Amino acid sequence: MMKVQMLRWSALCGWLALVAILCSGCNQATSDKTTEATNTNKEVDDHSGWWCAEHGVPEEVCSLCNAKAAAEFREKGDWCEEHNRAKSQCFICDPSRAEKFTKLYEAKFGEKPPERSD
Ligand SMILES: [Zn+2]
Ligand SMILES: [Zn+2]
Repeated sequence: MMKVQMLRWSALCGWLALVAILCSGCNQATSDKTTEATNTNKEVDDHSGWWCAEHGVPEEVCSLCNAKAAAEFREKGDWCEEHNRAKSQCFICDPSRAEKFTKLYEAKFGEKPPERSD
């Protein structure tokens, strides 16, 4: 009798463990989404979600960070082979190109963009 009960218990425990694993899986996914949303909001607040501070252009069109944008620039023939970025974003070849993007930033936030790190 005791043995049968023990077996039932272990079966129940195993099942509960499985349910717990599955549930924590769902919870994880949900909380990940929440964290992501919070992060995005925070990024928008400090401008860094939109702006690629490292390369001095909007992240959306950053040919160094955004593979999709890079592909589009390459397709258009707007590409600097030497520095492996969009020619229109190659401030190494022509520093004055940065101005256009700086103005974009200033128009949006009314302040100078952060110093580029490259
Ligand atoms: Zn970038
Ligand atoms: Zn270049």
